[in-house]
Amino acid sequence: MLQQVMTAPGVIEFREVEIPEITDDQVLIKIMKIGVCGSDIHVYHGKHPFTSYPVTQGHEVSGMIVKLGKNVTGFTYGQKVTIQPQVVCGKCYPCRHGKYNLCEELKVMGFQTTGTASHYFAVDAAKVTPLPEDSHSMKEQ
Ligand SMILES: [Zn+2]
Ligand SMILES: [Zn+2]
Repeated sequence: MLQQVMTAPGVIEFREVEIPEITDDQVLIKIMKIGVCGSDIHVYHGKHPFTSYPVTQGHEVSGMIVKLGKNVTGFTYGQKVTIQPQVVCGKCYPCRHGKYNLCEELKVMGFQTTGTASHYFAVDAAKVTPLPEDSHSMKEQ
């Protein structure tokens, strides 16, 4: 599959990489749409304070489930979904009180961990939110 990599500010490459394997608690998502956020532009200009290079971008995303891990329930093959891009510890005070966006170890896909700018993306089912079946953003163009 193709994966986007920004190797330095303003330098975007597309690399051929293996489709990721999923764990029993993950789903594989065929990526359909990715938003370009203001923060992505900061990364492009080398002005994002918490991002180093190389980085695969993509944190505002929609797609379709194409593989489900053994332990995953409540989702179906072909379901349209979006992904919460925060990667959190689950243990600190904010996490334990549902304020994971304030996690003391907060990382965000596309900045401090690999983003979704690829044909497929493996992610914990706990990070996946269903989208309506008639979602306009998901129509093929
Ligand atoms: Zn954003
Ligand atoms: Zn935390």
